[in-house]
Amino acid sequence: MRLSKRITNLTAGGSDGWDVFRRARAMEDAGKPVINLTLGDHDIPTDPDILDAMHEAALDGNTGYPLVPGADELRDAIAERVTERTGVPTTRANVVVMPGGQGALFAAHAATCDHGDTALFVEPYYATYPGSVRGIGAIPKTVPARPEFDFQPQPQDIRDAVDLRTRSLLINTPHNPTGVVYSRETLEGIAEVMKERNLWLISDEVYDTQVWEGEHLSPRALPGMAERTLVIGSLSKSHAMTGSRVGWIVGPEDAIEHLINLSTHTTYGLPAYIQDAAIYALEEGGEIEEDISERFRQRRETALAILERSDNFVTVPSQGAMYLMLDIRKTGLTGEAFANALLDTELVGVMPGESFGASAAGHIRIALTVDEEQLTEALNRLVRFAEAEARAA
Ligand code: PLP
Repeated sequence: MRLSKRITNLTAGGSDGWDVFRRARAMEDAGKPVINLTLGDHDIPTDPDILDAMHEAALDGNTGYPLVPGADELRDAIAERVTERTGVPTTRANVVVMPGGQGALFAAHAATCDHGDTALFVEPYYATYPGSVRGIGAIPKTVPARPEFDFQPQPQDIRDAVDLRTRSLLINTPHNPTGVVYSRETLEGIAEVMKERNLWLISDEVYDTQVWEGEHLSPRALPGMAERTLVIGSLSKSHAMTGSRVGWIVGPEDAIEHLINLSTHTTYGLPAYIQDAAIYALEEGGEIEEDISERFRQRRETALAILERSDNFVTVPSQGAMYLMLDIRKTGLTGEAFANALLDTELVGVMPGESFGASAAGHIRIALTVDEEQLTEALNRLVRFAEAEARAA
């Protein structure tokens, strides 16, 4: 039977850029001692106290249909957190709970773009961005963020990408895959273009608790932006709750009302006992959250200390998120060739920059998602490999 183009074209046919990841997994399954730094999933399990809250809520009978927009207490807790962190007055009416940041990304595009409209996003990008746009029938189009500008997108590049049917721009800061945090200047430049061209800004801030240098600024807090910004948030990274699928959108009240309507017709909300665990995480989980970001902060420091020893690559400014990006062009290899050869010779899995878009060609991404001992071992192997390659070049 024929399936819709919308679903069969989600990944646009070709390679989805995850070949090295799949090879690393297959080698692990075959019993090889691979250290896998490809995937952005937490190695840290969800805290038992959060799981207890979930368990108790379920045993107490909170197993029926949930409130579709999210429980009042959860929306209030999110609104309070956003108000505190950004200074933008935010209430329950500005918040809808979504199944993860991913569900929120899809819904935000459904809310802003019609069939055939253009949705912009910055490249290099998180793997699901183009599919999230195609999935709602819009046309994905990239705006490059180049290494020579430390991967900070430039306003003129956004202007150049805007066409008559452009409705939105999706940005992500702190940024996956580069680890860059967008500066105030970058965000003000983006905000100007959004206002000038009357566009929606979809701001993916799922790494907002992982900032190692400088500070995270939510562009919703810039003048004139609250009415045209949909912020994507999630507990996945902040509370090591990737499997619980708790995310949200913060935005203008009328947009939120329509997004709630969308949830009624798609997900029908998030399991109520998981929402109770999310309330616990937000209200009682401050220490848990800090402990998680502290672990990544330490891993990043350990990693940078090892990587500094080599002059065969340059580390992209590492300011946030659980990733490091290395420019490996000095070795004479492409990111893909480097990642494949590193996996074969040293049994270390990293993502080729090319997987995230052309601007990250000649780079690799390292996910800091293993413990310090394994990370140290993997990076020592990586330094050794790069030296051998540079000697042979
Ligand atoms: N946005 C970015 C940039 C990500 O890296 C991820 C996950 O890795 C997500 C969104 C989705 O996160 P979740 O759906 O787990 O909230």
